[in-house]
Amino acid sequence: MPELPEVETIRRLCETHLVGHKVRDVAVTLPKLLRQSMLPEPQCLSGESLIAATRRAKVLDLAFTGDLHLLIHFKLAGQWAIVLPDGERHVAGHPVPKPDGDLPHMSTHASILFDDGRIAWYSDIRQFGWFNLLPSDDVHGVMDGLMLGPEATDPIDVARLESLFSRRSVPVKAVLLDQKVLAGLGNIYVDEALFSAGIHPTRPAKSLISDETARLAAAIAPVLAEGIRQGGATIVNSKAIPDNGFPAVHGREGEPCFTCGSSIVKVRVAGRGTYFCPSCQTIS
Ligand SMILES: [Zn+2]
Repeated sequence: MPELPEVETIRRLCETHLVGHKVRDVAVTLPKLLRQSMLPEPQCLSGESLIAATRRAKVLDLAFTGDLHLLIHFKLAGQWAIVLPDGERHVAGHPVPKPDGDLPHMSTHASILFDDGRIAWYSDIRQFGWFNLLPSDDVHGVMDGLMLGPEATDPIDVARLESLFSRRSVPVKAVLLDQKVLAGLGNIYVDEALFSAGIHPTRPAKSLISDETARLAAAIAPVLAEGIRQGGATIVNSKAIPDNGFPAVHGREGEPCFTCGSSIVKVRVAGRGTYFCPSCQTIS
């Protein structure tokens, strides 16, 4: 679930609340969280300070003194919670465990304790997420290995998108989920962009005409921006809690379309639960 806007929200929380602080202790209680890690001992971060929090697509990159980086991929269900010394709490990512519940939760698999007692908790009910602790020199190579396409928040090259679509007969949704096409989009924001552009998710990518591709490209930035503005989409138990008309379709099966009143439909496309408005999103 954490897609580009959710990870960007986590990045901003790290920048505001953690950058400049020195690590006192690191605990990883789920060894497989470190399955991608080039440095197996997370304790090597102890005594180092967090100097920057950046993001590439859905990957958070925490840079520490000592030429160390911690890359985190939240995958389907990663959650990041920062608890400040006064108890103030900032949570982003997956809604489970409950943001105001007890920490650590049974699904909390890692923590980073900082100098003044502030702490970052990583929870993940699905355990698909990963940490990669590595030297600065290796960050570039690891990121390259992820084969990420252009950042979805950057201006989109419509001609490139059109060319990629023209060669694919699979549903347009499947092409948009491919991180090599645009990096950072996932199930929620693809559904929202297709709705905003009035394009049915099962349309073969190569059936889109130029105007439709241009409309789709133009729809992506606003839905990502709204997601970031809201600190991530609010979806609890697969049900969206829309704010300001967002999410418009994702997580809203059976609910009325905000534009036309038709019931939002859920189908499976590319193996993913896919939501659309049968009136606003035409098949041809
Ligand atoms: Zn509609």
